Amino acid sequence: MYSDLDVLVLGAGPNGLTCASYLAKAGAKVAVVERNVESGGGLMTQELSGFKLNSHAIYMLLAELMPPYRDLNLESFGVSFVRPEVQAAFLYKDESLVLYSDPARSADSVARISPNDVEPFTQLYSDFRRASEEFIIPATYVPPVDPLDQIELLEQAGELGRWINELAEMTPRELIHGYGFTDERIEAGLIYLASMFGLDPDGGGMGFLAPVYVYRLMQSALVRGGTHQLASGLRRALESFGGIVLTASEVREIILDGNRVSGIVLDDGQRISAKAVVSTLNPEQNFLKLLDPALLPTPLVETAQAWEWDETSLYVVNWGIVGELPRYVGRPQEVDNALTVVMGIESPDDVLSHFEAARLGSIPDGLVGHASCPSQFDALSAANHLPDYGNCEVLRWECLAPYEANWTTLKKELAAKAFENWSRYAPNLSKANIRVELPWSPEDIERHIPSMKRGGIKHGAYVSIQMGYNRPSPDCSSYRTPLEGLYVGGASTHPGGMVLLGGGYNAARSVVEDLELPIWWNAPPMVTTAITDGYLPEA
Ligand SMILES: Cc1cc2nc3c(=O)[nH]c(=O)nc-3n(C[C@H](O)[C@H](O)[C@H](O)COP(=O)(O)OP(=O)(O)OC[C@H]3O[C@@H](n4cnc5c(N)ncnc54)[C@H](O)[C@@H]3O)c2cc1C
Repeated sequence: MYSDLDVLVLGAGPNGLTCASYLAKAGAKVAVVERNVESGGGLMTQELSGFKLNSHAIYMLLAELMPPYRDLNLESFGVSFVRPEVQAAFLYKDESLVLYSDPARSADSVARISPNDVEPFTQLYSDFRRASEEFIIPATYVPPVDPLDQIELLEQAGELGRWINELAEMTPRELIHGYGFTDERIEAGLIYLASMFGLDPDGGGMGFLAPVYVYRLMQSALVRGGTHQLASGLRRALESFGGIVLTASEVREIILDGNRVSGIVLDDGQRISAKAVVSTLNPEQNFLKLLDPALLPTPLVETAQAWEWDETSLYVVNWGIVGELPRYVGRPQEVDNALTVVMGIESPDDVLSHFEAARLGSIPDGLVGHASCPSQFDALSAANHLPDYGNCEVLRWECLAPYEANWTTLKKELAAKAFENWSRYAPNLSKANIRVELPWSPEDIERHIPSMKRGGIKHGAYVSIQMGYNRPSPDCSSYRTPLEGLYVGGASTHPGGMVLLGGGYNAARSVVEDLELPIWWNAPPMVTTAITDGYLPEA
């Protein structure tokens, strides 16, 4: 049935669907193979009793900036974003810091808490924005450059480039601390933003990633209709170019003939051949499970064996409620309208000890985490079509969490604790109004997506030896592997995890080149500018 395929893409997450869409539009005959019953991977929205609950990704850091949005005309396939003006609120004991997509309004909020910190905040925002827009985001959509060459380019590119090189010697905390905030609550909030997806605030050499997290978490967006709408749009684009998605199809083996990959075997024994296979799974799956390590080049096997997994995972609980949205008592009005509301931190040490606790396997008593109400910004999320039900809303709580814990009991206990904690700040929240509850533990994450081993949302730790050119290894840095016909393009490749679509986008180009298909898309203007400015090499 699936004969004459040019390319098989393993995994229908954001990267797999992106890669397949570019290939199909280039004229390749493509099939995406996905173990779950629905495509999307981390772009998951579960519908319970009419409530649309995002158990995985929710914050779209780059949204319309992702080149596939324009190249694949995703808007025409039903994808749009909502970007709330009030981006984040930090509920300190006696104060609230509110960050907006407009940095001038954020600076006003900083001024209300600590006038001395307006200058460092404004400087940080400006530096982080420039570093992100001029280098970090463009570099997401090109293959990683050999580290020594990249350092040389940045060194030659001017002041900003030299500063970015310095960041690669710092931890995220050192970088933020270096701005000299006088009120530690402001510093704590910024460190929280840098680390809320599991970037270690004390991670050596990881300072270069902090700017993009902090800056884009002041510009982030939701996918209208629930995160899964992005997966639906990508899939519709793919199908419109003639590609197909085979769901409920677990890949058991990648077929190797000599040094050439020629297809796959599914769990039910079905064999499917293709000229090329692009895997968006993790290195352990690719090189230790689906292929026989005895037949592979030693460095590839060693890379997979030595792969470091994320030290922390996430715990998420969604509720569908009737009644009102949370109203925060004794807080500025804008807090009620914030996309993300952070609770439980007062100082950088609180953020660090929360991270450390998750890393070491416990959840601290005083719950640290962040809340959001997607239905506040996106009416499609709530189940408001039943008039008798009253007003419905969707609430979500998220925090860093350890993988190893007794999640069978803990996941419900934590849901109750998180709701209770939230209602201390917003007393109008009542347990009696909960209609559905969906707690989602690190174990659930791994069960749903085995590539997220140990609940690792990025398919592998962010440590400097696993970033950029080394992700997953130098001999796979062009998305080609040492095995002919096998490519990689998931979160375990540059630029890593999160919904950026970069791995799939970059991998598609290598495959198109090798299959001698037309490259039908142009590099985005941000990339051509970064090349002209000397931050990135000529293609
Ligand atoms: C709780 C949580 C919250 C998150 N929040 C955010 C957020 O707010 N913003 C953000 O940008 N990112 C967030 N992320 C991270 C983001 O979802 C991932 O980094 C991203 O989905 C990785 O994309 P991918 O396509 O590389 O892989 P995945 O999305 O992991 O997709 C891999 C696919 O491969 C399939 N697969 C695995 N093994 C096989 C097999 N043997 N055969 C066939 N198919 C297989 C899986 O089922 C899956 O569909 C979050 C993740 C989690 C879990």
